[in-house]
Amino acid sequence: MKKAASAVALLGSLALGASLSAPALAGEGPSYGGNETVNTSILATYDELVTFLKDQDARQDAMTLEVIGQTVKGRDIHLVKYLTDPDNPTVLYITQQHGNEQLTTEATMEFIRSLGTGKNAGLLEGVNILIVPMLNADGAMGDVDFSLEDYLAAGDRHLTRYNANEIDLNRDHVAQSQPETQALHSRVLAAHDIDYAVDLHHQGTDREADGRLVSGAILYPTSPNVDPAVVEDSKRLGAVVHDAVNSYGWGHVAQYDVGGSADTIARNGLASQYDIATLLFEMRGMSDHEDPSRVLGQKSNGYLIRQTVVTLEATARAIADGSIENADVAVWDTMPVQQSRD
Ligand SMILES: [Zn+2]
Repeated sequence: MKKAASAVALLGSLALGASLSAPALAGEGPSYGGNETVNTSILATYDELVTFLKDQDARQDAMTLEVIGQTVKGRDIHLVKYLTDPDNPTVLYITQQHGNEQLTTEATMEFIRSLGTGKNAGLLEGVNILIVPMLNADGAMGDVDFSLEDYLAAGDRHLTRYNANEIDLNRDHVAQSQPETQALHSRVLAAHDIDYAVDLHHQGTDREADGRLVSGAILYPTSPNVDPAVVEDSKRLGAVVHDAVNSYGWGHVAQYDVGGSADTIARNGLASQYDIATLLFEMRGMSDHEDPSRVLGQKSNGYLIRQTVVTLEATARAIADGSIENADVAVWDTMPVQQSRD
């Protein structure tokens, strides 16, 4: 099983034009370091994402595609819905609140495709799945009202954390001042009965735990306003992700270190406002940034995309078959907290 997964990761790397050596470097894969190749042209554009979603919508009976609003620059924001049974639990996946954190979206496209094939179709009998891919499409396309001239990646476009108004959408979940967060709250969070949510991000490249660079870091809601039962469910969601990712050779998941307790971020705000069990997952390295220590060489793309696919599949499956109820929250007591490698 492990062998098959590595083969898939390898194919993913090849498809993305990465070198054959990527799997061997997994986990300790190269940073940008000023000279690694980081070219944004290998990433799906917003238009390519929309074409993909419409194509899958036409192919998949179980899938419905809804436009939930528009970005500052007028791009449609999409919600992918697999609502098979109102009595089933519902999980929400959000990608790219920060526009320069794109591999989570690339992986989500793979997951959506897989839901239309025999491989994952059975999942949908036990869980309703909602997906908001590339929430910050303007930032992802570098179509913003501030300068990106210091950004490092080569390619057709730069990608930035902020939306077109230079607002951090993941600090806007209380004020909801931006059209992107308004769409997410009014048309997704308030409109559906959501039990679980995974908010997918990327962090810097230099975080380590137990002397090894992490493949990613996770955290449950830490706001004092969240119901303790919701925190426990969130910890179970995290335990599922931890165990699934760490079963692979490239997987090294630590506890996120700089979370904060403010309800302005999705991990806390969605839990406190809607009683949704949430998990933040920060993948290693960003697609573009001004700071070289944050940008990861694209040789690592294969395993990072795989890490997200594993996360999506494992959580959906555990919720669908009910095994999430047995997930062992004690894993949080031994999971190392990541720190910066100096
Ligand atoms: Zn982020």
